[in-house]
Amino acid sequence: MEETGLYLHYPFCVRKCAYCDFLSAPADEGTRAEYADALKRDLAGRAQELGAMKVRSVYIGGGTPSLMEPEEIISLMQTVHDLAGEWLPQAECTIEANPGTVTPDKAVAWRQAGINRVSMGMQAAQDTLLQTLGRIHRRQDVIDSVRIVRQAGFRNLNLDLMMGLPGQSMEDWQQTLELAFSLEPEHLSCYSLILEEGTPLERQVQSGRMRLPDEELDRAMYAETLLQMQNHGFEQYEISNFAKTGYESRHNLGYWDLSPYLGIGLGASSYIDGRRLKNTSDLNAYLEAEDPSKLFSVEQEASRQNDLEEWMFLGLRRTQGISREAFKAFFGTELQEEYGQQIRELIRDGLLERCGDMIRLTRRGLDLANYVFEAFLR
Ligand code: SF4
Repeated sequence: MEETGLYLHYPFCVRKCAYCDFLSAPADEGTRAEYADALKRDLAGRAQELGAMKVRSVYIGGGTPSLMEPEEIISLMQTVHDLAGEWLPQAECTIEANPGTVTPDKAVAWRQAGINRVSMGMQAAQDTLLQTLGRIHRRQDVIDSVRIVRQAGFRNLNLDLMMGLPGQSMEDWQQTLELAFSLEPEHLSCYSLILEEGTPLERQVQSGRMRLPDEELDRAMYAETLLQMQNHGFEQYEISNFAKTGYESRHNLGYWDLSPYLGIGLGASSYIDGRRLKNTSDLNAYLEAEDPSKLFSVEQEASRQNDLEEWMFLGLRRTQGISREAFKAFFGTELQEEYGQQIRELIRDGLLERCGDMIRLTRRGLDLANYVFEAFLR
């Protein structure tokens, strides 16, 4: 039995944020209830795979899974428990929650359902910036939602934060970090805004009505992040992720290690036996299907070349870097044989360094990570 992660996608939100191009949309109560049923049919269709699985993590992502009714979450997780073959001790089970949709009833139900980690989309501490992003919540909702999940007994909380926002100053970012630290999470994710094509925010920036911080400020915000994380006892374990000791996200570590994962739900991806599969993104087809687990396509057949590129890209995102021994165990060849020249050049340019068995990004490499990753694409 192989250790596997399970991802469950919930594609509904109160309303669409201005920067979002994820598979998510508002929906009425009836549609949401139908979807909760379809998810369980999808799980049942995967009974064989689930039965052969040693679950290392479950991640209920979205969308806004905290919109689900308490009984829907309990029933969904019961189905997972009924079907999964084995659970690793300390399996991590996360739900994504958005401030403004968290209630005491729901948080208690999540605990009952066996969920042991909450990942909350805080994003910023300023109401004006939250408004720019089109988020439904305000600063006070973050504080209230964190209090609710703590009161329900959650001891593992992540907050997602965003930098590089239109109109965001260094002072804004420092205040966002300050508020986040004051809420005492065990884990923090800090991502730079990516302007996705076709989103309302992209149109506003293109038309000149909004301006993004320049590259220099963006880098300075990242440097400030690294400094403040260190000052507050958070260890950086990936370019954008920071945790108190022992609270690194097991689910994400699985993605970065190229471990198998099974994706359930609309548009969810799976990585099984080296193949990448993608479920349908057609909501009506998904809701109407007797067995929605049949509605997937193969995005990518097993390919050594793709695995090599992903291994390098995902491995170098982790601050510990890539183990030469683990590389050999996975691919059967030496890292030097595959990428000797690239590694030598990047070390010469001060972007990579060797540390025992590991090859990892330097501090300068962290700033120029995309340039480094490109060197490993063939
Ligand atoms: S809450 Fe998240 S998934 Fe939903 S619209 Fe906003 S950014 Fe997208």
